[in-house]
Amino acid sequence: MTTNTAKAAKLSVMVPLAALDPKLTAEGILTFDCPACTPGLPTSKAKDSSDQHRLRVPLTPAKKNQRGYAWDHTGEFPHTLTLTPSVDAGCWHGFITGGQAMSVNEQPQTGPVTLRRNV
Ligand SMILES: [Zn+2]
Repeated sequence: MTTNTAKAAKLSVMVPLAALDPKLTAEGILTFDCPACTPGLPTSKAKDSSDQHRLRVPLTPAKKNQRGYAWDHTGEFPHTLTLTPSVDAGCWHGFITGGQAMSVNEQPQTGPVTLRRNV
């Protein structure tokens, strides 16, 4: 017997990147409030602001991050920005597509990330 896991895995929520206080430095580093850890967002899993932090995403051709990686990008910052591939911060995994931050509620890659299925 199986359950509705496939159906649950399809759930996703999004928030405009512009609502995450996005900044783009002259060096091409995109920073924004973590969609999962900033209270009050539809993507948020946070109950309060104690774990609030910002995500830092180097965009090509900027300096690569410590894992030697930078994200490809199209569109205009912030309203139509699209990044490739997805951003996996551990606490939040999602896509920046067309100026929207969209959470991916799939199986956690590793670690203790627990995704809510109930809305
Ligand atoms: Zn976070």
